[in-house]
Amino acid sequence: MNTYQKSCLCVDADLGFCYTLSTKLMSDTNAPVEKVAGPVQDLKDMNVLVSLCKQRGFVFPSSEVYGGINACWDYGPLGIELKRNIKELWWRSMTDREDVEGIDAAILMHPRVWEASGHVAGFSDPMVDCKNCKARFRADKMDADKLAANECPSCGKKGTLTEPRQFNLMFKTHMGPVEDTANVVYLRPETAQGIYVNFLNVQQSARQKIPFGIAQIGKAFRNEITPGNFIFRTREFEQMEMQYFVKPGSDMEWFEKWKAERIQWHLDNGIRKEKLRFHQHGDGELAHYAKAAFDIEYEFPFGWQELEGIHNRSDFDLGRHQEFSGKNLQYFDEAAKEKYIPYIVETSAGCDRTLLVALADAYRFDGDRTWMQFHPNLSPYKAAIFPLMKKPELTEYSDRVLADLKKTLRVTSDEAGSIGKRYRRQDEIGTPFGVTIDYDTITNHTVTLRHRDTMAQERVPAEKLGEILREKIAHWKV
Ligand code: ATP
Repeated sequence: MNTYQKSCLCVDADLGFCYTLSTKLMSDTNAPVEKVAGPVQDLKDMNVLVSLCKQRGFVFPSSEVYGGINACWDYGPLGIELKRNIKELWWRSMTDREDVEGIDAAILMHPRVWEASGHVAGFSDPMVDCKNCKARFRADKMDADKLAANECPSCGKKGTLTEPRQFNLMFKTHMGPVEDTANVVYLRPETAQGIYVNFLNVQQSARQKIPFGIAQIGKAFRNEITPGNFIFRTREFEQMEMQYFVKPGSDMEWFEKWKAERIQWHLDNGIRKEKLRFHQHGDGELAHYAKAAFDIEYEFPFGWQELEGIHNRSDFDLGRHQEFSGKNLQYFDEAAKEKYIPYIVETSAGCDRTLLVALADAYRFDGDRTWMQFHPNLSPYKAAIFPLMKKPELTEYSDRVLADLKKTLRVTSDEAGSIGKRYRRQDEIGTPFGVTIDYDTITNHTVTLRHRDTMAQERVPAEKLGEILREKIAHWKV
């Protein structure tokens, strides 16, 4: 039996997902905690994750009281902590390097940016999507016979093509009070362009020499034709992108280096190796400007899907911005006394998709207990402190331990319910350590340290708790 009591399974067409409205996690109920544990199972059903995320405060449907809005989600108290951890880990992995600088560019950019990038022209055609292989086509460029027969030119399946429609992926709005074509602006569909147009600003102000990179985390917006799978494909999302500027000729070497760096980052976050793989873009998939492209894919319950892209974008982007802006965007190599347009190696990860991977990969259920086996670096809380009973001598001690730990770690406390239920609640949100303050603590100043994944318990000195936790987190084996 599952930990969830599915008393009402709702299918919400607008949200594109079904979720259990009156689902109660077992640790919230008064029902006795089951003791029959079986083999550990992975996440098989996304609805279970959607329910857990709502119940525990990771992710809520956006504007839920109005029935939700398609493909938009809100991050709750724990979701935002998880997201901040992901962003912080990514940011540090990039900007701790001497050769990568950070930036935070505006979402609204000069409309010519999107002409130069190809987005205005490229996304303004009649679009046809294949629901099977997710390839997107311009109806006016497709083989007329295949279009008439509703046959996908990429995967060859029949009956999987959407109706052709005039479709631009970019959300359009107007700058200023007058709504006419002269003041159209776009919500950026990717963060990368804000980096390209600032290439020389960053290079000169930070006195960087090629090769170097610029990293950015920020919102992007795409009016996706086929959003769905919870937070996998949404219309508003965050990207974590790094564009690395290199001398032409050294681009493939850097491309390989960044491929290795990026997959290692996901592994370091505890994502299981067997759930990650590279997918190389073949001739049909490769963007016209790209010299090489690989996706890092993750095996979700709904199949292998892109998590992050690593692209060799050649000199296309800076070349186009030079052409459209009329500004010289060449780099001057002082040592070699030569000028050139750098090639760009891009690493582009979705923050929300990385978060979905973190959730999906961490989920464990053994027939009795549900726990999120997050790497502690990702866990919203690193430890939870439990006074065994609500007695002043225990709660006061517990408050002191909590205040001390809070100086260096994100920790929480829980006084409500039996100790078993409190452990379960923390397991379900992925807190790696539980600390129980009992009557022995008062006399000998030791506490019980419980480990989330094994449920093993050990007795440790209260005064060394912070040091022990930091040590265990730093040497966490993935
Ligand atoms: P997909 O085909 O899955 O929509 P894409 O190839 O269009 O993705 P890119 O343009 O390469 O994606 O964007 C880089 C990353 O941004 C993707 O690997 C993904 O993690 C994230 N991303 C892109 N579109 C979305 C979206 N609509 N919702 C959430 N994340 C997205």
